[in-house]
Amino acid sequence: MDERQAPATVPALSASNVTVRFGGLVALADVAIEVPPGTIVGLVGPNGAGKSTLFGVLSGLLRPASGRVFISGRDVTGSSPQSRARLGLARTFQQPELFMGLTVRDHLVLGHRVRYEHRRLWSDLVDFRALFPPTALETEQVEALLELLGLTEIADTPAAILPLGLARLVEVGRAMATRPSVVLLDEPLSGLDIRATERLTAVFERVVSNSSDGLSLLMVEHDVASVLALSSKIFVLDFGHLIAQGTPSEIRADTAVRAAYLGDEDVTAEGTAAPAHTTTDRPTPDGVSPSGPPRHE
Ligand code: ADP
Ligand code: MG
Repeated sequence: MDERQAPATVPALSASNVTVRFGGLVALADVAIEVPPGTIVGLVGPNGAGKSTLFGVLSGLLRPASGRVFISGRDVTGSSPQSRARLGLARTFQQPELFMGLTVRDHLVLGHRVRYEHRRLWSDLVDFRALFPPTALETEQVEALLELLGLTEIADTPAAILPLGLARLVEVGRAMATRPSVVLLDEPLSGLDIRATERLTAVFERVVSNSSDGLSLLMVEHDVASVLALSSKIFVLDFGHLIAQGTPSEIRADTAVRAAYLGDEDVTAEGTAAPAHTTTDRPTPDGVSPSGPPRHE
């Protein structure tokens, strides 16, 4: 890449020609993805499509057989998850990994310290309040983040008693407190009811539009309607291949995407205007009802 190029044109996160094999199975075949700064990007695909595998490659947990990964234009293909985190890549997990005895605020403080004080998480956890009383900067930034996420009122609540939707929000908050440039969200909406889904998606929009330094989100999600409503660009994987990429309207109109998803979800529904369908055998809007390929799982 040309070093003199304007920084705004460099993707916050990108990968090219990524191939991953598990024995004889090609989990990803020559996949490329790009997350521009300041955007929400969706990654969707039926079960077994390769979404988690791609997340593993991006976060550094999985080494691809071939291909490269870049954070803000910097080649991190050989870098550890920790050094990718230092370069601005954060992630959340599908099952929130919270410390049950700590409050909502404590989790954000920990995230903040990871970034600003290079504290070791585990030594902090021994008794981090006593060891490291908060600085003025820490208090100010953590309170601002609690406010942005709508968590101020439950800041002193222990994580142990939070419902799933709020636990996910705390995970997002902890990731955000490290001041990342990109957050990878692994199925952040799974298991949430409509109200919790709306709350979380509203927060996603708010944190991206409020970010002065171009925070991006890359979201793997089964709730395709939410992804189409939130994302400015969507990548679609099927059987390890990137079968489509584009804007929500391009994805809705894509015949390969419809075929891949038939029997899984109704990706063609226009946002929330259409009722939710949970049946596995329903016709597409144009009345055709072909049978999709068998899934991996
Ligand atoms: P998705 O997250 O889209 O459901 P995955 O990335 O988990 O898909 O899986 C892609 C394919 O790779 C699937 O066929 C899955 O069974 C296979 N796979 C994933 N992880 C492993 C592994 N560690 N060993 C062997 N096969 C795996
Ligand atoms: Mg998966």
